[in-house]
Amino acid sequence: MTGEQGMRYETWRALALWGEEEEAAALEVIRSRSLFRYYGPDLRHRTDLFETAFAETAGVPHTVAVSSGTAALTAAMIGLGIPAGAEVIVPAVTFVGSVGAVVAARGIPVFAEIDDTLTLDPALLEERVTERTWGVMPVHLGNAAADMDPILEVARRHGLRVIEDAAQAAGVHYRGRPVGGLGDAGAFSFQLDKNITAGEGGAVTTADADVYDRVARYQDQGGQFTTSKGATRGTGDSPPFVGVNQRMTELTAAVLSAQLPRLAPMCRRLRDVARQVRAATADLPIRWRRLPDEEGSGGDLTLFLDSRLQARALVADLNAAGIPAHTLYQGQPVTANRAVREGRTPWGVEWERPPRLRTSEALLGRSVTIGLGAAMTDEDVDAVVTALRKSHQDVTGNG
Ligand SMILES: *Cc1c(COP(=O)(O)O)cnc(C)c1O
Repeated sequence: MTGEQGMRYETWRALALWGEEEEAAALEVIRSRSLFRYYGPDLRHRTDLFETAFAETAGVPHTVAVSSGTAALTAAMIGLGIPAGAEVIVPAVTFVGSVGAVVAARGIPVFAEIDDTLTLDPALLEERVTERTWGVMPVHLGNAAADMDPILEVARRHGLRVIEDAAQAAGVHYRGRPVGGLGDAGAFSFQLDKNITAGEGGAVTTADADVYDRVARYQDQGGQFTTSKGATRGTGDSPPFVGVNQRMTELTAAVLSAQLPRLAPMCRRLRDVARQVRAATADLPIRWRRLPDEEGSGGDLTLFLDSRLQARALVADLNAAGIPAHTLYQGQPVTANRAVREGRTPWGVEWERPPRLRTSEALLGRSVTIGLGAAMTDEDVDAVVTALRKSHQDVTGNG
């Protein structure tokens, strides 16, 4: 997805801005010999500090740092009290981790169509609601928010919990508010491709103190340290339950904290880059992905062609000019994954083959995403414009 061979620039985000701050932060933790978040010979409380800072970024009172984005999604649903066997509606176009998290939380994924935002179609969402539906997981795909207002409206009408998969969208806003704080809980990933990264890591965001309490306990073996140490951690009076270990390390938190101040400027820069490219090609009949809130996006350049064939040709043409471009998930909805299609979980077959979601298949297959990198120069932006103008005309035959 990133760092493709022979391209004129790299498409890394946080990694492109990597510097001395990360080194200093990591070195401090290494020298403290206190890499575990809850105690150590010279604990620096990096994970606590990161949680506080990230809560501010997401505009919520509570954050729990965890080991991955998948862990964050799982913990968020468990924090919200998902009953075993409950259905969670997931968009047909997402990373398989969204589905894995539902399975790990003992839920059943149900797949819904996307629209030309490449995220959940609020109009078709309602068709997938049954009496077994417990929640819905909008995915803020590729640095742009799902259309949350109509999604929240459907969810409210049916009493559904809303878990935002914001793994790809740290720093993204929707109508003036950060993603992760719009639903009942949000989940972020800090894997290498994401907006801030320590290789791995994740975070759950929520405004609900009880959800926070349950998530804090779940990721710490049911509250091994969260309930015994720290006046502000896990002090709620919900009954105890058995959890798992999804704890973040101090090293991870220190590296992420070094990046957090760069997140907003990076998103602003990449949003400007996307805007410049759109403006410089405004005379061409390009059909761009519809962004429910372009102003709040973290920079995305995805367009639709007339066919899969055209999309493939455009990717090849742009790549030949040194411009990173690809079709997301190789043009395959998550339901094309064999295990997902066949409902196979670690404990057996749990759901029937989902119906083919043809709108999602068609939209995704006809889409092309031009990669943007946080270290792109103005010359790189010009090169994107030049290549896109030429390739789009060549491939579509209209100018
Ligand atoms: C990356 C990602 C995840 C999973 O995050 P990990 O940290 O890799 O576990 C979940 N959902 C989406 C949409 C993602 O892009």
